[in-house]
Amino acid sequence: MSGDNPIPKPAAERPDPDVSAAGCAPCEGGSDFIREAIREDLRTGRYDHVHTRFPPEPNGYLHIGHAKSICLNFGIAQDFGGKCNLRFDDTNPTKEDVEYVESIQEDIRWLGFDWEDRCFYASDYFEQLYQWAEELIRKGRAYVCDLTPDQVREYRGTLTEPGRESPYRNRSPEENLDLFRRMRAGEFPDGSRTLRAKIDMAHPNVNMRDPVMYRILRARHHRTGDKWCIYPTYDWAHGQSDSLEGITHSICTLEFEIHRPLYEWFIQALGIYAPRQIEFARLNLTYTVMSKRRLLQLVQEGLVRGWDDPRMPTICGLRRRGYTPEAIREFCRRIGVAKYDGVIDISLLEHCLREDLNRRAPRVLAVLRPLRVVIDNYPEEQVEQLDAVNNPEDPGMGVRQIPFSKVLYIEQDDFRETPPPKYYRLSPGREVRLRWGYFIRCTHVLKDPQTGEVLEVHCTYDPATRGGNAPDGRKVKATIHWVSAQHALPVEVRLYDHLFTKPDPDDVAEGADWRANLNPQSLEVVSPAFVEPSLQDAPVGSRYQFERLGYFSVDPDSAPGRLVFNRTVSLKDAWAKIAKQQGQDA
Ligand code: ATP
Ligand code: MG
Repeated sequence: MSGDNPIPKPAAERPDPDVSAAGCAPCEGGSDFIREAIREDLRTGRYDHVHTRFPPEPNGYLHIGHAKSICLNFGIAQDFGGKCNLRFDDTNPTKEDVEYVESIQEDIRWLGFDWEDRCFYASDYFEQLYQWAEELIRKGRAYVCDLTPDQVREYRGTLTEPGRESPYRNRSPEENLDLFRRMRAGEFPDGSRTLRAKIDMAHPNVNMRDPVMYRILRARHHRTGDKWCIYPTYDWAHGQSDSLEGITHSICTLEFEIHRPLYEWFIQALGIYAPRQIEFARLNLTYTVMSKRRLLQLVQEGLVRGWDDPRMPTICGLRRRGYTPEAIREFCRRIGVAKYDGVIDISLLEHCLREDLNRRAPRVLAVLRPLRVVIDNYPEEQVEQLDAVNNPEDPGMGVRQIPFSKVLYIEQDDFRETPPPKYYRLSPGREVRLRWGYFIRCTHVLKDPQTGEVLEVHCTYDPATRGGNAPDGRKVKATIHWVSAQHALPVEVRLYDHLFTKPDPDDVAEGADWRANLNPQSLEVVSPAFVEPSLQDAPVGSRYQFERLGYFSVDPDSAPGRLVFNRTVSLKDAWAKIAKQQGQDA
């Protein structure tokens, strides 16, 4: 990934001092350099409306980087009362597939954006592009070249050396037209000829050195079938597709800056409507790879469970993990857009998710690593229903009842036989509060005689403390979560960590590749864990806060009677800490 390392730029080029490698570009009120440029275009009359597009190539699943581009393109259209098209740039039949087309549409809709009736395909324009190519040939501005792909590369020169002209460069328009038509008719083998723009082999910009417009390729296209055996290059298709759709602002990532002169050359040579291209920096995230090629590798090599593995940065992976579209949109708003490459700390993404789930996720009690607690003075057969608040952030979410009985599970971590200093949770002789329940005091433990492991903690409860307060005003220093053993549902819980061990997955020893940094502990399965019975019918995709443990969502692998949860995000907010260090608001 070219953008993994921020390219240091002089301070003057940085749009705002608040934009740090870790940080947020301010874009409250919808302002950034792209929106500024658009506002200026509307003011000067260069355009009288705004029409953008999101142009994915259907050769993989969308990821969080694409979400940035989607939020930008659809968001700008919304802000300016304009339109945004979805356009599939499907010029490469060997790598593309309808599976990807469908997943891309699903993901954009899920993110909350609507292309209405404007879903287009570059392949819809193949005939028009072909006619335009003939026009350039007739104008003497394109030619059929018989150099092999290797020779084309060799003749192109380098950044420091000019290229050499192809021996076929000066064919007459008549000869070129005849050859090009025969290319289309399938008279020549794959790769034997190309159509090239006749620009300038000594041009300092390598993209202007007679770039290839068509190659011969006998490949079935997922939309046009076997109709074509020549396919336009991305460079030839992209700008003309924008022009055909009347795009005003063609927003793309920085690597296309150097293609812009070529796109403008094509538009001018054809004399057609000109969109304005504006480039922005692609999103890079710590602990994440974002190139489609690598994501495909992770899937194909079985390094993850699929495109929607909850550890993947794909939209479908994030969705399965339990991310909300709102959290992703907020993240995209907060990172803003910049003109230089940088790396965003993944903890900001997690922070945005936590903020959203804090507002909307009901709280429940769940125990991941159970330790049996027996309340010796509690009547054997008794069960009480205790009131529990669903979300302290939102009283409107109401109250539910949770069963309490003689035998409970608590978290192993919440008991220590010999407590270290500052450990205030349960230990022999110590009293704690059970969330929504009673005060309990530990009297003794039962241990495995062989291993010494604590098997059971015995306690007494104080019936006067129901609801969590003692009438005599005595205090406890800890409140712990629990479930009633006979009522709790056994479930599977999948805990995730970053997919990579290093913030920059490319930070590897000589000779190794990024896969060497895969985190072998990125998935931990806990089974059985126990959740309160109110979750019995929790639907797939629903999200909860397991109190004190984090946010969890119901995975599609769940079956009746066997719930599977993903830990969506823990409660520990690494971003708040970073922001505090930088003196920013989280
Ligand atoms: P490739 O071209 O290698 O297949 P790509 O990431 O460019 O991969 P596209 O399908 O061409 O994938 O991307 C669609 C749109 O999303 C493009 O406009 C592209 O600029 C934008 N985009 C892709 N990756 C990012 C990213 N990491 N951050 C922001 N925008 C991105
Ligand atoms: Mg691309």
